[in-house]
Amino acid sequence: MDITALTLTELRDALRRGETTSVAATQAMLDRIVAYDNALLSYLTVTDEMALEQAAEADRRRAAGEDTPLLGVPVAVKDIICTAGVQTTAGSRILEGFIPPYNAFVVDRLIAAGAVILGKTNTDEFAMGSSTENSAYVTTRNPWDLERVPGGSSGGSAAAVAAGLAYGALGTDTGGSVRQPASFCGLVGLRPTYGRMSRWGVIAFASSLDQVGPFGRTVADVAALLGVTAGHDPRDSTSLDAPVPDYEAALTGDVRGLRVGVPREYFVEGIEPEVEAAVRAAIEQLAALGADVVEVSLPHTRYGLPVYYLIAPAEASANLARYDGTRFGPRVAGADMIDTVRQTRALFGPEVKRRVMLGTYALSAGYYDEYYGRALKVRSLIRDDFRRVFETVDVIAAPTSPTTAFRIGERTDDPLSMYLADIFTLPLNLSAGCGLSVPCGFDSRGLPIGLQLIGDTLQEARILDAAYAYERARPWHKRLPVVAAEAGDLAAEAGDPEATD
Ligand code: GLN
Repeated sequence: MDITALTLTELRDALRRGETTSVAATQAMLDRIVAYDNALLSYLTVTDEMALEQAAEADRRRAAGEDTPLLGVPVAVKDIICTAGVQTTAGSRILEGFIPPYNAFVVDRLIAAGAVILGKTNTDEFAMGSSTENSAYVTTRNPWDLERVPGGSSGGSAAAVAAGLAYGALGTDTGGSVRQPASFCGLVGLRPTYGRMSRWGVIAFASSLDQVGPFGRTVADVAALLGVTAGHDPRDSTSLDAPVPDYEAALTGDVRGLRVGVPREYFVEGIEPEVEAAVRAAIEQLAALGADVVEVSLPHTRYGLPVYYLIAPAEASANLARYDGTRFGPRVAGADMIDTVRQTRALFGPEVKRRVMLGTYALSAGYYDEYYGRALKVRSLIRDDFRRVFETVDVIAAPTSPTTAFRIGERTDDPLSMYLADIFTLPLNLSAGCGLSVPCGFDSRGLPIGLQLIGDTLQEARILDAAYAYERARPWHKRLPVVAAEAGDLAAEAGDPEATD
Protein backbone atom coordinates (compact mmCIF):
# COMPACT_ATOMS: atom_id res chain seq x y z
CA MET A 1 0.00 0.00 0.00
CA ASP A 2 1.35 3.43 -0.99
CA ILE A 3 0.10 5.42 1.95
CA THR A 4 0.95 8.74 0.28
CA ALA A 5 -1.67 8.11 -2.41
CA LEU A 6 -4.51 7.61 0.08
CA THR A 7 -7.16 10.27 0.58
CA LEU A 8 -7.71 11.67 4.07
CA THR A 9 -10.65 9.40 4.86
CA GLU A 10 -8.87 6.39 3.34
CA LEU A 11 -5.85 7.03 5.57
CA ARG A 12 -8.10 7.48 8.60
CA ASP A 13 -9.75 4.14 7.89
CA ALA A 14 -6.40 2.42 7.26
CA LEU A 15 -5.19 3.74 10.62
CA ARG A 16 -8.34 2.42 12.28
CA ARG A 17 -7.79 -1.00 10.78
CA GLY A 18 -4.19 -0.98 11.99
CA GLU A 19 -2.82 -1.22 8.45
CA THR A 20 -0.43 1.66 8.97
CA THR A 21 0.63 4.08 11.67
CA SER A 22 0.41 7.81 12.10
CA VAL A 23 4.20 7.99 12.41
CA ALA A 24 4.55 6.23 9.03
CA ALA A 25 2.03 8.53 7.35
CA THR A 26 3.50 11.65 8.94
CA GLN A 27 7.06 10.67 8.03
CA ALA A 28 5.92 9.94 4.46
CA MET A 29 4.42 13.43 4.19
CA LEU A 30 7.54 15.04 5.69
CA ASP A 31 9.71 13.11 3.21
CA ARG A 32 7.60 14.34 0.33
CA ILE A 33 7.81 17.90 1.64
CA VAL A 34 11.61 17.60 1.61
CA ALA A 35 11.53 16.11 -1.87
CA TYR A 36 9.06 18.44 -3.57
CA ASP A 37 8.45 21.58 -1.61
CA ASN A 38 11.64 23.26 -2.80
CA ALA A 39 9.89 23.36 -6.16
CA LEU A 40 6.31 23.92 -4.98
CA LEU A 41 6.87 26.33 -2.08
CA SER A 42 3.55 25.45 -0.47
CA TYR A 43 4.71 25.58 3.18
CA LEU A 44 6.08 28.61 5.02
CA THR A 45 6.83 26.59 8.17
CA VAL A 46 7.12 22.82 8.53
CA THR A 47 6.56 21.72 12.12
CA ASP A 48 8.29 18.39 11.63
CA GLU A 49 9.33 17.70 15.23
CA MET A 50 5.95 18.63 16.65
CA ALA A 51 4.19 16.61 13.95
CA LEU A 52 6.20 13.47 14.71
CA GLU A 53 5.50 13.88 18.43
CA GLN A 54 1.78 14.28 17.75
CA ALA A 55 1.92 11.23 15.47
CA ALA A 56 3.66 9.10 18.09
CA GLU A 57 1.09 10.22 20.64
CA ALA A 58 -1.72 9.33 18.24
CA ASP A 59 -0.24 5.86 17.75
CA ARG A 60 0.04 5.43 21.52
CA ARG A 61 -3.56 6.45 22.01
CA ARG A 62 -4.66 4.10 19.24
CA ALA A 63 -2.73 1.25 20.86
CA ALA A 64 -4.54 2.04 24.11
CA GLY A 65 -7.86 1.54 22.33
CA GLU A 66 -8.76 5.19 21.84
CA ASP A 67 -10.26 6.62 18.68
CA THR A 68 -11.14 10.17 17.66
CA PRO A 69 -12.40 11.39 14.27
CA LEU A 70 -8.99 12.22 12.75
CA LEU A 71 -6.68 10.32 15.08
CA GLY A 72 -3.20 10.38 13.54
CA VAL A 73 -4.14 12.08 10.24
CA PRO A 74 -1.57 14.68 9.06
CA VAL A 75 -2.98 17.99 7.82
CA ALA A 76 -1.77 21.53 7.06
CA VAL A 77 -3.03 24.93 8.18
CA LYS A 78 -2.96 28.24 6.32
CA ASP A 79 -0.53 30.68 7.87
CA ILE A 80 -3.26 33.20 8.69
CA ILE A 81 -4.66 30.83 11.34
CA CYS A 82 -2.94 31.08 14.73
CA THR A 83 -0.97 28.14 16.08
CA ALA A 84 0.39 28.26 19.63
CA GLY A 85 4.16 28.39 19.68
CA VAL A 86 4.43 28.28 15.88
CA GLN A 87 5.17 31.39 13.83
CA THR A 88 2.06 32.77 12.11
CA THR A 89 2.77 35.46 9.53
CA ALA A 90 -0.40 35.92 7.44
CA GLY A 91 2.08 36.02 4.56
CA SER A 92 3.25 39.45 5.75
CA ARG A 93 6.59 40.94 6.82
CA ILE A 94 4.66 42.87 9.47
CA LEU A 95 4.06 39.62 11.35
CA GLU A 96 7.45 38.07 10.72
CA GLY A 97 8.50 36.34 13.93
CA PHE A 98 5.02 36.57 15.48
CA ILE A 99 4.45 33.49 17.63
CA PRO A 100 0.87 33.31 18.86
CA PRO A 101 0.39 32.29 22.49
CA TYR A 102 -2.77 30.35 21.64
CA ASN A 103 -4.37 28.19 18.96
CA ALA A 104 -7.24 29.29 16.79
CA PHE A 105 -10.50 27.52 17.68
CA VAL A 106 -10.29 25.48 14.48
CA VAL A 107 -6.73 24.36 15.29
CA ASP A 108 -7.79 23.30 18.78
CA ARG A 109 -10.60 21.36 17.15
CA LEU A 110 -8.21 19.61 14.76
CA ILE A 111 -5.92 18.68 17.64
CA ALA A 112 -8.84 17.49 19.76
CA ALA A 113 -9.89 15.31 16.81
CA GLY A 114 -6.41 13.76 16.90
CA ALA A 115 -5.03 15.37 13.73
CA VAL A 116 -1.30 15.89 13.26
CA ILE A 117 -0.27 19.41 12.18
CA LEU A 118 2.43 19.28 9.49
CA GLY A 119 2.95 23.01 9.19
CA LYS A 120 1.76 26.38 8.00
CA THR A 121 0.99 27.04 4.36
CA ASN A 122 1.66 30.03 2.17
CA THR A 123 -0.94 32.74 1.60
CA ASP A 124 -1.27 36.08 -0.11
CA GLU A 125 -0.47 38.79 2.42
CA PHE A 126 -3.44 38.99 4.83
CA ALA A 127 -5.30 36.74 2.35
CA MET A 128 -5.54 39.58 -0.17
CA GLY A 129 -5.08 38.00 -3.55
CA SER A 130 -5.92 35.15 -5.87
CA SER A 131 -2.54 33.61 -6.66
CA THR A 132 -0.19 33.71 -3.59
CA GLU A 133 1.91 36.19 -5.57
CA ASN A 134 1.08 38.78 -2.88
CA SER A 135 2.80 36.68 -0.23
CA ALA A 136 5.78 38.59 1.18
CA TYR A 137 7.73 35.32 1.25
CA VAL A 138 7.29 33.06 -1.78
CA THR A 139 4.98 32.36 -4.71
CA THR A 140 3.57 28.85 -4.49
CA ARG A 141 3.55 26.78 -7.70
CA ASN A 142 0.62 24.85 -9.08
CA PRO A 143 1.39 21.11 -8.87
CA TRP A 144 -0.25 20.60 -12.28
CA ASP A 145 2.10 23.09 -13.96
CA LEU A 146 4.93 24.68 -11.99
CA GLU A 147 4.84 27.78 -14.24
CA ARG A 148 1.33 28.54 -13.06
CA VAL A 149 -0.24 29.86 -9.86
CA PRO A 150 -2.13 27.55 -7.50
CA GLY A 151 -4.81 30.20 -6.99
CA GLY A 152 -5.17 32.11 -3.79
CA SER A 153 -5.19 33.31 -1.27
CA SER A 154 -5.09 29.81 0.29
CA GLY A 155 -2.82 28.61 -2.53
CA GLY A 156 -0.28 27.01 -0.21
CA SER A 157 -2.93 24.78 1.36
CA ALA A 158 -4.33 23.81 -2.05
CA ALA A 159 -0.94 23.04 -3.60
CA ALA A 160 0.14 21.00 -0.57
CA VAL A 161 -2.94 18.78 -0.66
CA ALA A 162 -2.94 18.43 -4.47
CA ALA A 163 0.73 17.41 -4.48
CA GLY A 164 0.30 14.89 -1.68
CA LEU A 165 2.20 16.93 0.93
CA ALA A 166 -0.78 16.80 3.35
CA TYR A 167 -3.95 14.71 3.48
CA GLY A 168 -6.12 17.77 3.95
CA ALA A 169 -5.79 21.42 4.89
CA LEU A 170 -7.56 24.48 6.19
CA GLY A 171 -7.74 27.77 4.31
CA THR A 172 -9.86 30.88 4.61
CA ASP A 173 -12.42 32.17 2.11
CA THR A 174 -13.26 35.88 2.32
CA GLY A 175 -14.05 36.27 -1.37
CA GLY A 176 -13.22 32.89 -2.87
CA SER A 177 -9.87 31.96 -1.36
CA VAL A 178 -10.79 28.32 -0.70
CA ARG A 179 -12.98 27.58 -3.74
CA GLN A 180 -10.79 29.26 -6.37
CA PRO A 181 -7.51 27.51 -5.38
CA ALA A 182 -9.44 24.23 -5.01
CA SER A 183 -10.61 24.70 -8.59
CA PHE A 184 -7.08 25.58 -9.85
CA CYS A 185 -5.51 22.58 -8.08
CA GLY A 186 -8.15 19.93 -8.75
CA LEU A 187 -9.45 19.66 -5.17
CA VAL A 188 -12.67 19.90 -3.26
CA GLY A 189 -12.78 23.12 -1.20
CA LEU A 190 -15.66 24.45 0.86
CA ARG A 191 -16.63 27.89 2.11
CA PRO A 192 -19.04 27.36 5.02
CA THR A 193 -21.92 29.63 5.94
CA TYR A 194 -20.71 32.75 7.74
CA GLY A 195 -20.67 31.83 11.45
CA ARG A 196 -20.40 28.06 10.89
CA MET A 197 -16.68 28.29 11.70
CA SER A 198 -15.31 30.29 14.60
CA ARG A 199 -13.01 33.14 13.58
CA TRP A 200 -11.31 33.04 17.00
CA GLY A 201 -7.57 33.06 16.32
CA VAL A 202 -7.95 33.67 12.60
CA ILE A 203 -6.09 36.86 11.69
CA ALA A 204 -8.78 39.26 10.52
CA PHE A 205 -8.98 40.51 6.94
CA ALA A 206 -12.63 41.52 6.39
CA SER A 207 -14.57 40.51 9.47
CA SER A 208 -18.05 40.36 7.95
CA LEU A 209 -16.81 38.03 5.17
CA ASP A 210 -14.01 35.88 6.64
CA GLN A 211 -14.60 32.15 7.10
CA VAL A 212 -12.31 29.17 7.50
CA GLY A 213 -12.80 26.38 4.98
CA PRO A 214 -11.42 22.86 4.41
CA PHE A 215 -9.60 21.37 1.41
CA GLY A 216 -9.51 17.69 0.51
CA ARG A 217 -9.04 15.46 -2.49
CA THR A 218 -12.57 14.12 -2.15
CA VAL A 219 -15.95 15.29 -0.94
CA ALA A 220 -15.81 12.82 1.97
CA ASP A 221 -12.45 14.30 3.06
CA VAL A 222 -13.93 17.80 3.15
CA ALA A 223 -17.03 16.54 4.98
CA ALA A 224 -14.80 14.93 7.61
CA LEU A 225 -12.73 18.10 8.11
CA LEU A 226 -15.82 20.30 8.24
CA GLY A 227 -17.39 18.05 10.85
CA VAL A 228 -14.52 18.44 13.30
CA THR A 229 -13.86 22.17 12.80
CA ALA A 230 -17.41 23.59 12.63
CA GLY A 231 -19.32 24.48 15.73
CA HIS A 232 -20.25 27.14 18.21
CA ASP A 233 -17.61 29.21 19.96
CA PRO A 234 -18.70 31.86 22.46
CA ARG A 235 -15.42 33.75 21.85
CA ASP A 236 -16.59 34.69 18.35
CA SER A 237 -19.78 36.71 18.70
CA THR A 238 -20.76 35.88 15.09
CA SER A 239 -20.35 32.14 15.61
CA LEU A 240 -23.63 30.28 15.02
CA ASP A 241 -25.04 28.14 17.79
CA ALA A 242 -26.43 25.50 15.44
CA PRO A 243 -26.00 21.73 15.67
CA VAL A 244 -23.19 20.23 13.56
CA PRO A 245 -24.53 17.32 11.54
CA ASP A 246 -22.42 14.29 10.69
CA TYR A 247 -21.58 15.59 7.22
CA GLU A 248 -19.88 12.41 6.13
CA ALA A 249 -22.75 10.17 7.18
CA ALA A 250 -25.11 12.49 5.29
CA LEU A 251 -23.46 11.64 1.94
CA THR A 252 -26.01 9.54 0.10
CA GLY A 253 -25.06 10.29 -3.50
CA ASP A 254 -28.73 10.53 -4.36
CA VAL A 255 -29.71 13.71 -6.21
CA ARG A 256 -33.02 12.49 -7.61
CA GLY A 257 -35.48 15.36 -7.43
CA LEU A 258 -32.82 17.84 -6.26
CA ARG A 259 -33.65 21.23 -7.76
CA VAL A 260 -30.52 22.71 -9.32
CA GLY A 261 -30.52 26.34 -10.48
CA VAL A 262 -28.11 27.53 -13.15
CA PRO A 263 -27.64 31.31 -12.95
CA ARG A 264 -27.45 32.85 -16.40
CA GLU A 265 -25.26 35.68 -15.09
CA TYR A 266 -22.45 33.17 -14.40
CA PHE A 267 -21.98 32.25 -18.04
CA VAL A 268 -20.83 35.57 -19.42
CA GLU A 269 -18.03 36.91 -21.55
CA GLY A 270 -14.58 36.30 -20.14
CA ILE A 271 -15.31 32.69 -19.23
CA GLU A 272 -12.97 30.31 -21.07
CA PRO A 273 -14.92 28.10 -23.51
CA GLU A 274 -13.35 24.93 -22.10
CA VAL A 275 -14.40 25.94 -18.58
CA GLU A 276 -17.94 26.65 -19.71
CA ALA A 277 -18.13 23.33 -21.59
CA ALA A 278 -16.87 21.31 -18.60
CA VAL A 279 -19.23 23.03 -16.17
CA ARG A 280 -22.21 22.60 -18.47
CA ALA A 281 -21.33 18.92 -18.94
CA ALA A 282 -21.16 18.52 -15.15
CA ILE A 283 -24.60 20.07 -14.79
CA GLU A 284 -25.90 17.66 -17.44
CA GLN A 285 -24.36 14.85 -15.42
CA LEU A 286 -26.35 15.99 -12.37
CA ALA A 287 -29.47 15.99 -14.54
CA ALA A 288 -28.65 12.48 -15.76
CA LEU A 289 -28.45 11.43 -12.11
CA GLY A 290 -32.00 12.66 -11.61
CA ALA A 291 -31.64 16.32 -10.59
CA ASP A 292 -34.13 18.85 -11.96
CA VAL A 293 -32.10 21.57 -13.64
CA VAL A 294 -33.62 25.00 -14.24
CA GLU A 295 -32.21 28.34 -15.29
CA VAL A 296 -32.31 31.05 -12.62
CA SER A 297 -31.27 34.68 -12.42
CA LEU A 298 -29.14 36.50 -9.85
CA PRO A 299 -29.52 39.94 -11.41
CA HIS A 300 -27.19 41.86 -9.09
CA THR A 301 -24.22 39.56 -9.75
CA ARG A 302 -22.39 42.23 -11.72
CA TYR A 303 -22.26 44.45 -8.64
CA GLY A 304 -20.54 41.73 -6.62
CA LEU A 305 -17.02 42.79 -7.52
CA PRO A 306 -17.38 46.56 -6.90
CA VAL A 307 -19.34 45.97 -3.67
CA TYR A 308 -16.76 43.46 -2.41
CA TYR A 309 -13.91 45.86 -3.23
CA LEU A 310 -15.51 48.55 -1.10
CA ILE A 311 -16.56 46.41 1.86
CA ALA A 312 -13.48 44.17 2.10
CA PRO A 313 -10.89 47.00 1.95
CA ALA A 314 -12.98 49.13 4.34
CA GLU A 315 -13.02 46.36 6.94
CA ALA A 316 -9.37 45.55 6.23
CA SER A 317 -8.31 49.15 6.80
CA ALA A 318 -9.91 49.02 10.24
CA ASN A 319 -8.53 45.56 11.10
CA LEU A 320 -5.00 46.35 9.96
CA ALA A 321 -4.78 49.55 12.01
CA ARG A 322 -3.51 47.40 14.89
CA TYR A 323 -0.16 46.72 13.21
CA ASP A 324 1.85 49.64 14.46
CA GLY A 325 4.96 47.95 15.83
CA THR A 326 3.70 48.04 19.41
CA ARG A 327 1.96 44.73 20.00
CA PHE A 328 2.75 42.27 17.23
CA GLY A 329 5.70 41.45 15.04
CA PRO A 330 8.70 43.62 14.24
CA ARG A 331 9.11 47.30 15.09
CA VAL A 332 11.18 49.56 12.87
CA ALA A 333 12.46 52.25 15.23
CA GLY A 334 12.07 55.77 13.85
CA ALA A 335 12.92 59.27 15.08
CA ASP A 336 9.75 59.49 17.18
CA MET A 337 6.52 57.58 17.77
CA ILE A 338 4.82 58.71 14.55
CA ASP A 339 7.92 57.92 12.52
CA THR A 340 8.14 54.48 14.15
CA VAL A 341 4.55 53.73 13.19
CA ARG A 342 5.13 55.02 9.68
CA GLN A 343 8.28 53.00 9.13
CA THR A 344 6.83 49.85 10.67
CA ARG A 345 3.72 50.07 8.51
CA ALA A 346 5.95 50.42 5.46
CA LEU A 347 6.50 46.67 5.96
CA PHE A 348 3.07 46.10 4.38
CA GLY A 349 3.30 45.00 0.75
CA PRO A 350 1.81 46.96 -2.17
CA GLU A 351 -1.55 45.15 -2.35
CA VAL A 352 -2.17 45.62 1.37
CA LYS A 353 -1.28 49.30 1.11
CA ARG A 354 -3.65 49.67 -1.85
CA ARG A 355 -6.50 48.11 0.15
CA VAL A 356 -5.81 50.17 3.27
CA MET A 357 -5.90 53.34 1.16
CA LEU A 358 -9.06 52.30 -0.69
CA GLY A 359 -10.75 51.29 2.54
CA THR A 360 -9.75 54.40 4.46
CA TYR A 361 -11.10 56.53 1.62
CA ALA A 362 -14.38 54.61 1.46
CA LEU A 363 -14.86 55.09 5.21
CA SER A 364 -13.77 58.72 5.42
CA ALA A 365 -16.16 61.46 6.52
CA GLY A 366 -18.07 62.80 3.54
CA TYR A 367 -17.54 59.64 1.48
CA TYR A 368 -18.85 57.05 3.93
CA ASP A 369 -22.47 57.18 2.74
CA GLU A 370 -21.54 57.42 -0.90
CA TYR A 371 -19.17 54.44 -0.86
CA TYR A 372 -19.34 52.15 2.16
CA GLY A 373 -22.98 52.92 2.96
CA ARG A 374 -24.07 52.36 -0.61
CA ALA A 375 -22.05 49.16 -0.87
CA LEU A 376 -23.91 47.80 2.17
CA LYS A 377 -27.22 48.55 0.47
CA VAL A 378 -26.21 46.76 -2.72
CA ARG A 379 -24.92 43.88 -0.59
CA SER A 380 -28.45 43.39 0.69
CA LEU A 381 -29.74 43.31 -2.91
CA ILE A 382 -27.23 40.54 -3.69
CA ARG A 383 -28.32 38.69 -0.58
CA ASP A 384 -31.97 39.04 -1.65
CA ASP A 385 -31.10 37.59 -5.08
CA PHE A 386 -29.89 34.40 -3.42
CA ARG A 387 -32.78 34.32 -0.96
CA ARG A 388 -35.29 34.55 -3.80
CA VAL A 389 -33.59 31.86 -5.88
CA PHE A 390 -33.42 29.50 -2.90
CA GLU A 391 -37.22 29.69 -2.65
CA THR A 392 -37.36 27.61 -5.84
CA VAL A 393 -34.10 25.63 -5.99
CA ASP A 394 -32.02 23.60 -3.52
CA VAL A 395 -28.58 24.17 -5.01
CA ILE A 396 -27.05 26.64 -7.46
CA ALA A 397 -24.51 25.25 -9.96
CA ALA A 398 -21.98 27.49 -11.69
CA PRO A 399 -18.31 27.71 -12.60
CA THR A 400 -15.95 28.37 -9.68
CA SER A 401 -13.59 30.53 -11.72
CA PRO A 402 -13.87 31.87 -15.28
CA THR A 403 -10.45 30.42 -16.15
CA THR A 404 -8.09 27.63 -15.23
CA ALA A 405 -4.80 28.42 -13.45
CA PHE A 406 -3.01 31.38 -15.05
CA ARG A 407 0.72 31.89 -15.47
CA ILE A 408 2.84 33.29 -12.69
CA GLY A 409 3.30 37.01 -13.37
CA GLU A 410 0.47 37.18 -15.90
CA ARG A 411 -1.81 39.33 -13.75
CA THR A 412 0.48 40.97 -11.21
CA ASP A 413 0.65 44.31 -13.05
CA ASP A 414 -3.10 44.67 -13.35
CA PRO A 415 -5.02 44.47 -10.06
CA LEU A 416 -8.39 44.44 -11.83
CA SER A 417 -7.55 41.35 -13.87
CA MET A 418 -6.46 39.67 -10.62
CA TYR A 419 -9.70 40.72 -8.91
CA LEU A 420 -11.70 39.22 -11.81
CA ALA A 421 -10.42 35.75 -10.88
CA ASP A 422 -13.03 35.78 -8.09
CA ILE A 423 -15.95 37.16 -10.07
CA PHE A 424 -17.99 33.94 -9.56
CA THR A 425 -17.05 33.36 -5.93
CA LEU A 426 -17.42 36.87 -4.41
CA PRO A 427 -21.24 37.14 -4.58
CA LEU A 428 -21.69 34.16 -2.25
CA ASN A 429 -19.47 35.75 0.41
CA LEU A 430 -21.70 38.83 0.32
CA SER A 431 -24.74 36.60 0.90
CA ALA A 432 -25.62 34.23 3.71
CA GLY A 433 -25.05 30.87 2.01
CA CYS A 434 -22.29 28.31 1.64
CA GLY A 435 -20.44 27.00 -1.41
CA LEU A 436 -17.90 24.51 -2.61
CA SER A 437 -15.80 23.68 -5.63
CA VAL A 438 -15.54 20.11 -6.89
CA PRO A 439 -13.32 18.99 -9.80
CA CYS A 440 -15.28 18.66 -13.06
CA GLY A 441 -12.61 17.97 -15.66
CA PHE A 442 -9.45 19.31 -17.26
CA ASP A 443 -8.74 21.76 -20.05
CA SER A 444 -6.63 20.88 -23.09
CA ARG A 445 -3.46 21.95 -21.20
CA GLY A 446 -4.26 19.39 -18.51
CA LEU A 447 -5.31 22.00 -15.94
CA PRO A 448 -8.17 21.23 -13.53
CA ILE A 449 -11.60 22.89 -13.80
CA GLY A 450 -13.99 23.36 -10.87
CA LEU A 451 -17.76 23.16 -10.58
CA GLN A 452 -19.16 25.48 -7.92
CA LEU A 453 -22.19 24.33 -5.93
CA ILE A 454 -23.84 26.97 -3.76
CA GLY A 455 -26.36 26.31 -1.01
CA ASP A 456 -28.54 28.38 1.28
CA THR A 457 -27.68 29.18 4.91
CA LEU A 458 -26.31 26.10 6.75
CA GLN A 459 -27.01 23.81 3.78
CA GLU A 460 -23.46 22.42 3.78
CA ALA A 461 -24.72 18.82 3.94
CA ARG A 462 -26.86 19.37 0.87
CA ILE A 463 -24.12 20.82 -1.36
CA LEU A 464 -21.69 18.17 -0.15
CA ASP A 465 -24.17 15.45 -1.07
CA ALA A 466 -24.73 16.91 -4.55
CA ALA A 467 -20.96 17.11 -5.04
CA TYR A 468 -20.62 13.53 -3.79
CA ALA A 469 -23.17 12.28 -6.32
CA TYR A 470 -21.25 14.03 -9.09
CA GLU A 471 -17.86 12.81 -7.84
CA ARG A 472 -19.06 9.20 -7.80
CA ALA A 473 -20.24 9.50 -11.39
CA ARG A 474 -17.14 11.38 -12.55
CA PRO A 475 -14.19 10.57 -10.25
CA TRP A 476 -11.78 13.20 -11.63
CA HIS A 477 -9.94 13.17 -8.30
CA LYS A 478 -8.32 9.89 -9.26
CA ARG A 479 -6.06 11.74 -11.68
CA LEU A 480 -3.06 13.06 -9.73
CA PRO A 481 -0.52 15.70 -10.79
CA VAL A 482 2.87 14.41 -11.87
CA VAL A 483 4.92 16.55 -9.52
CA ALA A 484 7.86 14.17 -9.40
CA ALA A 485 8.57 14.31 -13.12
CA GLU A 486 8.76 18.09 -13.13
CA ALA A 487 10.62 18.33 -9.86
CA GLY A 488 12.68 15.29 -10.94
CA ASP A 489 16.09 16.40 -9.75
CA LEU A 490 14.74 17.31 -6.38
CA ALA A 491 13.11 13.91 -5.97
CA ALA A 492 16.34 12.21 -7.00
CA GLU A 493 18.38 14.31 -4.59
CA ALA A 494 16.10 13.32 -1.76
CA GLY A 495 16.72 9.69 -2.73
CA ASP A 496 13.07 8.89 -3.30
CA PRO A 497 13.11 6.47 -6.25
CA GLU A 498 9.51 5.46 -5.74
CA ALA A 499 8.03 8.93 -6.01
CA THR A 500 5.87 8.95 -9.10
CA ASP A 501 3.09 11.39 -8.35
N1 GLN B 1 -9.10 37.37 -4.05
C1 GLN B 1 -10.00 38.05 -3.16
C2 GLN B 1 -9.25 39.20 -2.54
O1 GLN B 1 -8.18 39.45 -2.93
C3 GLN B 1 -10.51 37.10 -2.11
C4 GLN B 1 -9.48 36.76 -1.12
C5 GLN B 1 -9.98 35.84 -0.03
O2 GLN B 1 -10.99 35.17 -0.14
N2 GLN B 1 -9.24 35.85 1.07
O3 GLN B 1 -9.72 39.86 -1.68
